[in-house]
Amino acid sequence: MERIEKVVRQARAAFNSGRSRSLEFRIQQLKALERMVKEKEKEILAALHADLHKGGPNAYSHEILGVLAELALTMEKLPSWAAPQPVKKNLMTMRDEAYINFEPLGVVLIIGAWNYPFVLVMHPLIGAIAAGNAVVVKPSEVSENTAQLVADLLPQYLDQELYPVVTGGVPETTELLTQRFDHILYTGNTAVGKIVMAAAAKHLTPVTLELGGKSPCYIDKDCDLAVACRRITWGKYMNCGQTCIAPDYILCDPSIQSQVVENIKATLLVRRESLMLWELSPLQRRSEFLELWLLAGVLSTLFLLSPTILTDVSPDSKVMEEEIFGPVLPIVTVKSVEEAIEFINHREKPLALYVFSNNKKLIKRVISETSSGGVTGNDVIMHFFLSTLPFGGVGHSGMGAYHGKHSFETFSHRRACLIKDLKMEGTNKMRYPPVSQKKVDW
Ligand code: NAD
Repeated sequence: MERIEKVVRQARAAFNSGRSRSLEFRIQQLKALERMVKEKEKEILAALHADLHKGGPNAYSHEILGVLAELALTMEKLPSWAAPQPVKKNLMTMRDEAYINFEPLGVVLIIGAWNYPFVLVMHPLIGAIAAGNAVVVKPSEVSENTAQLVADLLPQYLDQELYPVVTGGVPETTELLTQRFDHILYTGNTAVGKIVMAAAAKHLTPVTLELGGKSPCYIDKDCDLAVACRRITWGKYMNCGQTCIAPDYILCDPSIQSQVVENIKATLLVRRESLMLWELSPLQRRSEFLELWLLAGVLSTLFLLSPTILTDVSPDSKVMEEEIFGPVLPIVTVKSVEEAIEFINHREKPLALYVFSNNKKLIKRVISETSSGGVTGNDVIMHFFLSTLPFGGVGHSGMGAYHGKHSFETFSHRRACLIKDLKMEGTNKMRYPPVSQKKVDW
């Protein structure tokens, strides 16, 4: 544990040296990170496979492509993002210089989750480096191969003191959280999010919490069900259902429920997934749902689970209590869009919300009468991939956001700067006593 204290102390000393501040240095580190991802692509994919059985084009597009795209965007835009931002002035400051300066916060802690173990530490790391911070990276111990690889690779490519990696589980994270940081970005479940926030409060450290929850998917009767269900199936079953913004459950009118089921089944058959059984991740094996899945008869003793749709699910059932995080899709029927909105608003604010309809007005209505971290209309997951949109939760699904410029802003302090000169003192007369009674336009 002394080692953890030393790592954080060294990171702070490195930050205080000032070397992470220049734009040239930041871009050079981001370039080195890009080189790392390109040169070690095979090793990264092998670690992901060892941890999660992720493979093929999916592993590449989910974990490598996104990181390379974020790096390219950040390196291209960083000079304009980091440039001082002039602001509008008033009568009193007409002749002065007034601007917002984006300055680094200091030492940032990034705690990752196991389900996308590479991208979930790399994306925030890119933003924190871009903003000029020192960063302590703590990957999830559940994906131990990826965690070890990140710990081995980062020091080979990046400044070792500024960007150390700490591996380990709860004891190490607990120890890390006793240290003082200038920002913490945590990705994981809501219960641990509360622990992180409580620890951060002791040092008045701001937090970004990227949490989860049950993301609803409402399908209107006026909808192209074949297209809608193809898109929903893709998002629900990707990464074996272990995606924080996967549609957790479907809300639809009872009259279209069987067509929804048929369309999802048809997509699964075309995509071969129904012929495959998924191996449950270590977390899913621990899950409370295990019992439920065993009861449903979809789980073999080898911890293999086939894609499952549950119909006419009661809102009070166990499966509607917690985030599913597996290839099980419950359908709850509702008789109107009003009932769907009420259903959503009676639960914690979700990380994502999905609405499918030919009627854009209905989609806008659902958006304006509910709340969630993000929304995609007529598709799922896709708002995540648009880096001009902030990615984050609200309420129990999290706080703060990142991706693209939003990452840069999350890890920067917006410093208010006003520079006056010492001339024109005459104009300041009214500020000093005796104060004039005349109305002054500020
Ligand atoms: P996890 O088990 O990998 O834990 C996440 C991190 O928390 C790990 O680094 C772990 O060391 C640390 N941790 C665990 N228990 C701790 C404790 N008691 N004290 C301090 N640190 C502790 O991941 P998980 O929580 O199972 O992740 C799944 C959840 O994360 C789901 O709810 C999912 O929706 C959510 N998630 C959210 C996002 C997002 O971007 N919003 C992304 C991925 C996952």
